[in-house]
Amino acid sequence: MKHAVMLAGCAFLAGVAGISATFVADQDPAVEVVAAGKGVSMLIGQGGNVGVLQGPEGVLVVDSQFDRMVPGILAAIAGLQKDGEVKWLVNTHYHGDHVGGNVRLGAGATRMAHAKVRERMATAQGNRPAADPAALPMLTWESGVMMHLNGQRVEMMHVGPAHTDGDTIVIFHDAGVVHMGDTFFNGMFPFVDLDSGGSVAGALEVLRQALSEMPPTWKIIPGHGPLATAKDMQKTITMIDKTLAIVRERVDGGMSNAEVVAAGLPEEWVSWSWQFISTERWLETLARECGAK
Ligand SMILES: [Zn+2]
Repeated sequence: MKHAVMLAGCAFLAGVAGISATFVADQDPAVEVVAAGKGVSMLIGQGGNVGVLQGPEGVLVVDSQFDRMVPGILAAIAGLQKDGEVKWLVNTHYHGDHVGGNVRLGAGATRMAHAKVRERMATAQGNRPAADPAALPMLTWESGVMMHLNGQRVEMMHVGPAHTDGDTIVIFHDAGVVHMGDTFFNGMFPFVDLDSGGSVAGALEVLRQALSEMPPTWKIIPGHGPLATAKDMQKTITMIDKTLAIVRERVDGGMSNAEVVAAGLPEEWVSWSWQFISTERWLETLARECGAK
């Protein structure tokens, strides 16, 4: 993932003509702030990208990365808004790199998520132990909720199955920003958690629908990767669509999962590979999705 650069003796880097301000918290690990829209910022640290809505009624935060990132996240929020208090914490899904900071970041906040997030966090999932009860969402939804905060409409909308079975996207209607959680990895092969109810075809559908409904000028906060535009999202849709079609054809032709992986992908898609989701792992996910044994 992108690493923020520490700037010695310079904690705040003013943006050019108010387009974008980059704040680098004087903390280790560092957190970088990217302006996304009116009152809305994206924080890049380690783990899933964080969304922040600031304003006089208090701060709403989307996702909490890891516990070790909380001091950096709080310093970044303080840089955006003096005495800005985190009053609402939304989790886009239950994975540890999105809920790991919940206890400290959400201590004084209303913690909120889809009902499945609470359910999965409250019990052991594979080798992931049950979360601290103080990390659990206290307000949950099945389909979503609309909030009216800081003069803006903020909509939490359940989508999918996509990355998991409990994904929420957060739509900042008045700022023109949407936080897609891990339904969207910008410029890299996505992780689709088939063992937690996720679906590649479902994720593709979510991206297509989001793109068709959002104005083309909107900014998109992906779960991982840099702040995106509609164009970036279209590239990801094309990649998933094309690679899924390749694998579906192979599986329909009788290839096993191992044979699908061994056959690789055309050169044009190889640059989407990264540390966590290599070409092999992406092919394996696609083959499983298509029912290959
Ligand atoms: Zn995730």
